[in-house]
Amino acid sequence: MSTACNQCGQCCTTLELDEDGHALRPGIIPCKRLKILPNGKTYCTIYNRRLGSRLGKGLQCVMRKDCPFDYEGCPQNDPEGRKPLFRVDFKNKTVTELNRDGTEIQDETSSKDNI
Ligand code: SF4
Ligand code: SF4
Repeated sequence: MSTACNQCGQCCTTLELDEDGHALRPGIIPCKRLKILPNGKTYCTIYNRRLGSRLGKGLQCVMRKDCPFDYEGCPQNDPEGRKPLFRVDFKNKTVTELNRDGTEIQDETSSKDNI
């Protein structure tokens, strides 16, 4: 599997959980350790000690391969397409589920639903 990362930050967001704590979908709130640069790229301020960090409800930092979701444009998406694919848009504060061809399959969740 490729270890490339384009620093989009989509995988470093809160998760929406069901009552049993299982992840339903990503959220739009970035991890507090994520820095978003003016050009839209992101980086982790605790990268070398990030794994296992408890970062709040629904967000514990794990290896990318252990994330429950795939993200639009991520080089580390499951090549078999077995995970749900999402677009996390920080700028417009939306999360959209996509088909594997990139078309939308669900309505967006607005910021007021998550904050
Ligand atoms: S979703 Fe993929 S490309 Fe974006 S920050 Fe995470 S690993 Fe990198
Ligand atoms: S601690 Fe983990 S989730 Fe948070 S910014 Fe760093 S890599 Fe992303």
